[in-house]
Amino acid sequence: MAGDGFQFGGRLSLDLTWTLRYRAVAPTELLVAPSDLRRWISTAITTLRGPVDDGHLADAIELREAIHAAARATIDGRPVTSGARSVINDRASAPTPYVQLDRNGSATVRLRADSPVESALAAVAVDAIGLLAAEDGRLRVCEGPACSLLFHDGSRPGRRRWCSTERCGNRVNLAAHRRRAADRAAGPRIDPTT
Ligand SMILES: [Zn+2]
Repeated sequence: MAGDGFQFGGRLSLDLTWTLRYRAVAPTELLVAPSDLRRWISTAITTLRGPVDDGHLADAIELREAIHAAARATIDGRPVTSGARSVINDRASAPTPYVQLDRNGSATVRLRADSPVESALAAVAVDAIGLLAAEDGRLRVCEGPACSLLFHDGSRPGRRRWCSTERCGNRVNLAAHRRRAADRAAGPRIDPTT
């Protein structure tokens, strides 16, 4: 169903890029309607109250594509285009969400009441700037078959190859395991060229 199946890896800006799945082989849009954007923001940041319209949806998708282009350029060692930079910088210049201390002592993130979507996108853009400016060599493309999601490896060893071990790492390991098992079942291979 359209809009179902959001996934989150813990970096807000990359999580937004994850709303277009299978980008390299069969692009699947998860932000189809304004209600999808509402659900994404409510899940990724905090409950969004107030209207979400087609203009907001277009803004979010434009920001997503700018972040994706900028991240790919950074991974490939190319400069980020001025077009991508200006979209990210424009969004980042809006007032960001703020934090409040609740009665029970916990912190709650609030979107700006007068511009909730703009403040949510500002948070995403600010996260993207932090990620791109760090240039720590840990921004990568998932090696899972057909996956192509971007992720940031925050692990201590820094050798992650998948967006998620459960989703892609296991799939690759399982495929390799099946190949080995099939090889064993087929017996010793005879090379026809010898
Ligand atoms: Zn993956």
